[in-house]
Amino acid sequence: MGAALLKERENQVHVKGEKPFNIVCNKDSLAGAVSQRACVFCGSRVVLYPIADALHLVHGPIGCAVYTWDIRGALSSGPELHRLSFSTDLQERDVIFGGEKKLRSALLELIERHSPKAAFVYSTCIVGIIGDDLEAICKGVAAETGIPVIPVQSEGFKGNKRAGYQAACDAMFRLIGTGDTAGISKFSLNILGDFNLAGEIWMVREYYERMGIQVVANVTGDGRVADICRANGAALNVVQCSGSTMQLANMMEEKYGTPSLRVSYFGIEDMSEALYDIARFFKKQYPDDPEADKIMERTKALVQEKVRELVPQLEKYRKALAGKKAAIYVGGSFKAFSLVKAFRLVDMDVVMVGSQTGTEEDYRELAAITDPGTVIVDDANPLELNSFLKEKEVDIFVGGVKERPIAYKLGIGFCDHNHERKEALAGFEGMLNFAKEVYSSVMSPVWRFVPRKKPTA
Ligand code: SF4
Repeated sequence: MGAALLKERENQVHVKGEKPFNIVCNKDSLAGAVSQRACVFCGSRVVLYPIADALHLVHGPIGCAVYTWDIRGALSSGPELHRLSFSTDLQERDVIFGGEKKLRSALLELIERHSPKAAFVYSTCIVGIIGDDLEAICKGVAAETGIPVIPVQSEGFKGNKRAGYQAACDAMFRLIGTGDTAGISKFSLNILGDFNLAGEIWMVREYYERMGIQVVANVTGDGRVADICRANGAALNVVQCSGSTMQLANMMEEKYGTPSLRVSYFGIEDMSEALYDIARFFKKQYPDDPEADKIMERTKALVQEKVRELVPQLEKYRKALAGKKAAIYVGGSFKAFSLVKAFRLVDMDVVMVGSQTGTEEDYRELAAITDPGTVIVDDANPLELNSFLKEKEVDIFVGGVKERPIAYKLGIGFCDHNHERKEALAGFEGMLNFAKEVYSSVMSPVWRFVPRKKPTA
């Protein structure tokens, strides 16, 4: 298994069926192993980035801001301030004498110029080392400008990407509870953990609206500061990509008593189950309210209509793709569950699945839903991925920006399921787009001219 696997990494890989389930995860990456993970700062940046009417100021050297500039193609239906990348551009003098003055003047200038509804200030590695007091500067600027100015404690070195998610959740949590919750329906929810990469939030919002449920805040996609401030007024948090935002849902449950549901919007099965789970939640909350029954009826009608439309359209792709092999490597493992099921819908075999930030519980669930022989891997690196892809003779690799070149160099089809994609892959419509994209990549004539790399003997 995996010729490139370092000895110290062996316990972070499990092959289903070879031994009883056992995987070590949620730990710092092995030094020198060139993990596919991003740093803590990047983890926080990708979660907060889609708040479109906020100012995002990266306090650090210019490279940190460039590296994450427009990193997530999160679409906005209104303001697009999030798409600009601001940096304090710390230089040698600032490192010696401190960057607080520079930060304060950058904040005042940018707030005056762009009139944001809030400002997030990201701490980077060097700021953690020189010890600038972000909290004090942000507090002072907030008092002067009258908008929330929130430090994001995301020094790149202080842990793995999960620590960045936590820093982002801590920052958002400071906004929640500061808005007016009057007029919010008891049949309402917040959408957490969908980043509206290709307009998915709009599709999902439409489903909820058809069900008769009010959406209070799209916390992490097409987000608005004012909505997040009143998100505590919603009856339910619906959390996708639980790795990035489950902490926020937990904090809201503890402080405001807001319950949460984990869902996935990928694939027919999980999308339908998400809608039914939400309808069941409201029925359980309000068993005697006729509106709860109406929500369930509308949900059934919606799911039936969408499935009836979709299944025949998938047939052509299923026939062509049956028996082809897929590998998955994503940021959070929750998405991987849905992808395994989505590939099954088109009769494809998932032979490798891994994530940057999965927990033991996540991997145990992956082991339960995959076939014997499937490689399950935590926090992989390019050499391992190379080796598994060749060994398993994969036809398509699903991942993000850092996985794309690995696939192409091996002569393998690639499907972007992360920051850069422009095609909606969530929702019922997204399942059809996914099947089309996988079909076009796997069956493309280009592979006749790019010979697939074989496993090394
Ligand atoms: S925060 Fe640190 S690790 Fe992250 S991009 Fe900046 S310098 Fe690199």
